Amino acid sequence: MNIWDPKRIRAEFPIFQHHPDLIYLDNAATTQKPRSVLDAERDFYERNYANVHRGIYPLAARATQLYEASRQKVAEFINAPKIEDIVFTRGSTEGINLIAQSFLGPTLQAGDDILVSGLEHHSNLLPWQAICQSRGAHLHIIPFFEDGTLDLQYLDKNLGSKTKLLALSHISNSLGTVNPVAEILTMAKAKGVPVVLDAAQSIATHSIDVQAWDLDFLVFSAHKMYGPSGIGVLYGKSEHLKKMPPYQLGGEMIRDVTYEKSLYAAPPKRFEAGTPNAAGAIGLAAAIDFLQKLDRKAIFEQQKILLNYATQALMDIPGLEIYGQAPEKSGIISFALEGIHPHDSATLLGEKEICIRAGQHCTQPVMDFYDIPGTLRVSFAMYNHEAEIDELIQGIAFAKQKLGAI
Ligand code: PMP
Repeated sequence: MNIWDPKRIRAEFPIFQHHPDLIYLDNAATTQKPRSVLDAERDFYERNYANVHRGIYPLAARATQLYEASRQKVAEFINAPKIEDIVFTRGSTEGINLIAQSFLGPTLQAGDDILVSGLEHHSNLLPWQAICQSRGAHLHIIPFFEDGTLDLQYLDKNLGSKTKLLALSHISNSLGTVNPVAEILTMAKAKGVPVVLDAAQSIATHSIDVQAWDLDFLVFSAHKMYGPSGIGVLYGKSEHLKKMPPYQLGGEMIRDVTYEKSLYAAPPKRFEAGTPNAAGAIGLAAAIDFLQKLDRKAIFEQQKILLNYATQALMDIPGLEIYGQAPEKSGIISFALEGIHPHDSATLLGEKEICIRAGQHCTQPVMDFYDIPGTLRVSFAMYNHEAEIDELIQGIAFAKQKLGAI
């Protein structure tokens, strides 16, 4: 498939056949689904569906085999050393909560430090904040500069023997900053600090090798990489996972149960209580196949072309301010129009089938930093093209006129 031909790419996504004029620029929230992902889920339900890891009849064995083959595919996708290092979750949020409760929970004490980047989505802030508060530990927020880049000097100074964890995103969902992960990991590793990388915004455009980066934990969500909603991945180093207690208790995560006491299964089963989202896992595997047929570097380069084109065009609009101008950015632009609430312009754009996000993007402290109620955010995916940006610019001019801010 030719990545540079948006028409051909769009043809893979049925939503654009149902809505030919749709201009979907909210890809940081979630991406649309290619036919192959939809077909994989449907095929599983139509031909191979049974509960996994339970029945011994052939249909159940096939369902289990497909679910575990998806786990294998994920392991290869991020170069995990072992298939057992891959835990299926509901998404990035659940993965982070699991780490907070099962990795930090048993050991975090009063006086310990946790470091979190100031750019984080609430999902990668609240679980750390809550556990620090409950234990009397200190949550240190790595500040960022006006352009949306992190203060690495602060990070270096504050990584110490009391630091029990560093959590950060690869790419900021509200500003688009691509954090210098390799450099940050070198700093953390030099002090022996475990790192959680939130790849929710990067997994669709960056190939991540958990061994090359020596990551302790990695989380991502399938729905932001053209896969289904309700399924995500937690990778954990096996030396960590095997020491961690379960996060939830229930069916299929056990080794032995009596009324008095229970022994739990080894990872990853220990962390997958209850009936898992097997169709989601199979859809995720199809999304991986879809991405691997393309070249993620080329997808990212194309998004950078769109980023530059849109940034230039937006900057020419009087009264428009862009928030976050880091030298390394992904295809995400946050901006505001002077004198217009973001919701009002997004509503008018929506009437023209131009879908962009308005609000705080689950990063309220980032909005507070700029002293604004929120922004408008456009975010690109592989099916976007320059003509859509031209329509966005015209739509913004229309909104400004309609809302009386010419
Ligand atoms: N982290 C980042 C950087 C995100 O962009 C998001 C989703 N917007 C999340 C975490 C949470 O992902 P999910 O809602 O799929 O759990």
